[in-house]
Amino acid sequence: MPVAAPPPAPARLGESAEADVPDVGAALHKLVAEWLPFRRGLTGAGLREQLLAISERVPMRISEVPSGTKVLDWTVPKEWRVREAYLAREDGTRIVDWADSPLHLVQYSVAVRDTMPLWALRAHLHTLPEQPSLVPYRTSYYAPTWGFCLTHDALDALAAEIGEGGEVRVVIDAEHVDGSLTMGEVVIEGETSDEILFSAHACHPALANDNTASLAVATMLARRLLNGPKRRHTIRFLFAPGTLGAITWLDRHHADLGRIRHGLVLANLGDAGGFTYKQTRAGTLGAPLAVDRAVAVAMRDLGRDVDVRPFEPTGYDERQFGSPGFDLPVGRLTRTPHGEYPEYHTSGDDLGLVRPEALAASLSALEAVVDVLDGDRRYRNTQPYGEPQLGRRGLYASLGGLPEGPAAQQAALWVLNLSDGTRSLLDVAERSALPFSTVRAAADRLAEAGLLVAA
Ligand code: ZN
Repeated sequence: MPVAAPPPAPARLGESAEADVPDVGAALHKLVAEWLPFRRGLTGAGLREQLLAISERVPMRISEVPSGTKVLDWTVPKEWRVREAYLAREDGTRIVDWADSPLHLVQYSVAVRDTMPLWALRAHLHTLPEQPSLVPYRTSYYAPTWGFCLTHDALDALAAEIGEGGEVRVVIDAEHVDGSLTMGEVVIEGETSDEILFSAHACHPALANDNTASLAVATMLARRLLNGPKRRHTIRFLFAPGTLGAITWLDRHHADLGRIRHGLVLANLGDAGGFTYKQTRAGTLGAPLAVDRAVAVAMRDLGRDVDVRPFEPTGYDERQFGSPGFDLPVGRLTRTPHGEYPEYHTSGDDLGLVRPEALAASLSALEAVVDVLDGDRRYRNTQPYGEPQLGRRGLYASLGGLPEGPAAQQAALWVLNLSDGTRSLLDVAERSALPFSTVRAAADRLAEAGLLVAA
């Protein structure tokens, strides 16, 4: 297995990635396959390689925050650089080799060069006895230690071969050096500075669903938004290592956070499971926020089931965005959540787990959520006393002539009735059970006819 795939050939902006592959699911799956081998981490070359690959598809601002910088209650750690790491038999043949997969080495392991009997080495070996053919993914960012991860089958075979007293050569040629933490941001300017924030963690090496799939879906979404019509909201994508990346970004954007009107953390968007939505903190403790409602309406309109769960302070970076001081309107969209699929944080989270149709459906769902959030508006009916005469304005006939005629007429009546200056089109879509796009289109026609004004 190669150390890392060569970076993908730069694609010209505006040239859709879908052009190469007719089916968007296949295009996304191809992207996951290209990016899967990157040796992503909390810091370092693999993370930069990933961000660079994204920046070849959408214009990205990459920033580096030096090791030692205080960020909120944390400190940006040193960069971890690995030259080689392996376990070898006395005759020099290798048992496990980091060159074969970055999962074999506990992330942030300290340097070691030693020979020890298998029984002593066991304290540093991580396997999954219940899933003996899979390699676990382990990190030790803040406790200086070292370890190797391998299949339980391989460990059993080694024990049978050399016995507990058999000597194993341990080599970890790694260093922790002053460097920086890397973050990437893609900002698609809208008509206003109100923002929709999407955030995806980019620190796990060699795992497909968690989170290469989401990096691919987010990149494709950004590209489509960039090539599409200008939106009212500015849309920001944050690609950064989990926890510390979000903390660093929040620390450095403290003053601008008021612009964030809606947000979603994106994770595990490639497996075949259904959608799971984790509500915002404020939406859980009080009434659901616009993003909580927009996800529900978008999924309903797409005919997709979604398992809606309350906010809790575990999981991905919604923990940071939803910390009480920030309390940002950021929910989380996944397919199967972390820890709930057997391949989670193992070598089984591979290309086979990630399905083209699931990736495509995740992209469609996010586009629909953006359409709802960006298209939601509050209006005031200019003729609120009795129903306005739609026929006289040519609206009744024109609505009836549309393919969605009856629904369009119903939508017009709903919009006129609820547009009292306090309720928005999202309220209309919820109460009428009509698709948001139908409601939005009806509002456009009514506004054109002077029956609605912005509230
Ligand atoms: Zn994870």
